[in-house]
This record gives sequence, C-alpha cells and structure tokens, in this order.
Amino acid sequence: MFHTFSFLFLWMFAATTTPDWPRVEQHATELLQQYIRIRSVNPPADTTATAKLLQHEFELAGMEAKLYTSAAGGKTNLLVRLAGRDRTKRPLLLLNHMDVVPVDASRWKHDPFGGEIENGLIWGRGSLDMKSTAVQQLTALVLLKQLGIVPPRDIVFLSTCDEETDGSNGAAWMIKNHWDELNPEYVLDEGGVGSRDLYTPHKTVFGISVGDKQVLWIKLRAVGTSGHASQPIPDNANDILLTAIAKAKDFPPSSKPNPVISEMKTQIDSFSNNKFMNAIQQNTISLTTLRSGLGDPPKVNVIPSVAEATLDCRLLPGQNADEFLSDIKARVNDQRVTYELLSHPADPGPSRTDTPLFAALKSAILKQNPDAIVVPVIVPYGTDSQKFRLRGSIGYGLEPMVIDAGTLATMHSDSEHIPLDQFRAGLHVYFDILTSEW
Ligand SMILES: [Zn+2]
Repeated sequence: MFHTFSFLFLWMFAATTTPDWPRVEQHATELLQQYIRIRSVNPPADTTATAKLLQHEFELAGMEAKLYTSAAGGKTNLLVRLAGRDRTKRPLLLLNHMDVVPVDASRWKHDPFGGEIENGLIWGRGSLDMKSTAVQQLTALVLLKQLGIVPPRDIVFLSTCDEETDGSNGAAWMIKNHWDELNPEYVLDEGGVGSRDLYTPHKTVFGISVGDKQVLWIKLRAVGTSGHASQPIPDNANDILLTAIAKAKDFPPSSKPNPVISEMKTQIDSFSNNKFMNAIQQNTISLTTLRSGLGDPPKVNVIPSVAEATLDCRLLPGQNADEFLSDIKARVNDQRVTYELLSHPADPGPSRTDTPLFAALKSAILKQNPDAIVVPVIVPYGTDSQKFRLRGSIGYGLEPMVIDAGTLATMHSDSEHIPLDQFRAGLHVYFDILTSEW
C-alpha cells in the first residue's frame, strides 16, 4: 500500500515538474523569431514593442510584468518577480537588454529583422546579443511558474532599454529609482559563453564571466600653430598628435598577474591566439577617432591649429585607472597635449566563485555538455552587471550555448546569427540553473 502510494506520488511529481520539451523548444524558438522581428534599435532605444511582447508572454503564464518608462521616446524597462521560499534572502536577478545596435541593411544577406531560420542557424540583429539569452531566461522562469516550482529565493527578471549605449535609462535608471525592487544578491547576465575554439583550441570551455574590464575613454587634444601648408613647421598639431598617440599606445605589459586569468591558465593549458583572448590578458588601447583639419570639407593646404583623437582604453580589474592615465601623460611628455576624461572607470573587482550559484551554473552546463571545462573569465567589454557589482551584487555572465569564435565575431556585425540547436540546449541549461539550490 505504502509502495503504491509512494510510486504514484513520485509519478505525479515527475509528471508535473518535467517540461514538455519539444513544445517548449518550439514555442521559445518562435518567440525568439518574433522578438528579433521587432526593431528595438538603439538609438533611439524605443523598447515599447519588445516590452509588450515579453509582457504578453508572462501574462499567458499568469505572471504580472511591470513596465517602467524611464524617458521620452518609448524607453521602457520590464520587471517581473517570482516569489521564492525564503523571502528574507536577497533575490537572484535575471538581467537582459531589449535594445540592439543599428544595422546597415545593405550589407546583410539575411533580413536583419527577419528572424529567419536557415540550415540550422537563426539570423538577425540581437540573435546573439542578447535576445536569445533573454528568451532562455524568460522560458525557464515561466516554466517554474507553470510547473509550480518555488525557487529557493525570489527571482527578479529585468529587461532594460539601453544597454548598448550607457544604460542610463535602463539598468542605471532602475538602480537609481527602483533599487528596493531589485537589491539582488546574485545577477545573471550576458557575458561568458561556451566555445570549442575561443578560449583554447579543440576543447569545449565555458567561460562564466565574473568581471568586466574597466572602460577608460580619453580625448587627446594637440594645439600647435596654423599656417600655409606649403611651408612645414615643427609645431603642426597633427604631427604633435600622431607622436603623442604612438607614445601613448607604446606601453609595457602589466606586471601584476590577474587572479581570474591565472585561474583560467591552471584549468586550460594553452590559450587560443585571438583578439578576445589577447584582450582579456592585458590592458589595451584602441585609437577610435581622429578629428582635424580646417573647414568641412577640410582644407588640404591649411595646417590646422588643433587636432583631436580619442583612445578607448580597457583596463583589467585591479588596475588603477589614475595610474594608467598618469603613465600615458609621462610617456607623451608634451605640454602641447591636453587630456579629457570621457568616462570615469570604477572597479568593483571580480565576483567570487565560491557560491552555490556558481556551482549550480557549472553543474547545469556539465549536464548538457559533459566534456566541457567550466572556468571563470573576464570579458573585455562592459555589461550592465558591472553596475550591480558596484552595488555589492555577485554578477555572473553566461550565454549558455556553445558558439565558435567565428560565430561570436558576428555580434554587432552584418551577419549576426546563432546555431538553433545551441539556443535550444541553452533553454535546458537555464531551466536546470533555476531549479537548483542557491
Ligand atoms: Zn549585449
């Protein structure tokens, strides 16, 4: 009798807590296609239609999604909360952004806003960054609600409107105006990803990002003497600027080893040689703009008195930005060059990995990818997680898919796409994460 009852009970439990995966995968794929078809390009970051789409999905599951308009022009953020068992614990925040970068449609072979599926690939702006992971997060959360699974603590789902600029109307605005509804202990966001070649050749490695590089933007301004270009002079502003840029970029590698990179090294013997891996092992400087010349179009026969350039510097966590800037000034060592800071970096340091959530991410990844190595990683770009790390949250970045380096490079490009099977595998990973204990 007892046995029969217990068998029946287990059967019922299994029947009600296992998703109908073929149906879930199909529905999530169609939702991603619909999501890509909405042109939530930033600028202007009008996310009204995307917020309505996601809100409708939550409503179908009986969940209330609140919309917050942060600025004119439809800048809309969406927030959903699922209550957990222990409401005294600070929540887990599922963070994603609805905006995408612009497109040059003439360069695309597929409709950038078509959500087309061809040969097992799903194409379109936002397919990689980051509408796919938003749908994985949403699907997992909705499944919890539908299956009556109560998570260990509250889960908050937040979709923001302007990550692709500076987050001032999205993540930063929500932090400033609605912190009491967020206050996360943990944040799960974009950032790390699985790959067979990005981190090391011929091995599946999942990087879970625990920190972003610091963003230091500097404008250099060289002032010289203007004159007739037929008679060269030594204080030509263009020459001063070019020399200054060359000296600024000629910096020694950082002598302090970064602990996250050291940890990666111990788990992966040899790093791949690509721009991503190069960028996360050192401080970097990219020359991004040059502005000079008199008039528009600029006169060819006039030596201008002013020339300007911007440097996009990315510093490893733990690097002192003031020191980095004063080192640049010392190398340039020219009174005719002035410096303007266009961004003010803040360094919360990397998030710790000895947490139940990190362990849950790892085991969910390994369940789908038994041969994978899971490592913490730094990402070279900035994500919204950093804003939460600065408020004391533990932030992890994970797009739970195996994507090769070539496909990852299509992010922000005119051929952005993801493999459909990996999008679907990521649904399972996210569900396993959310049904773990943390
Ligand atoms: Zn993104």
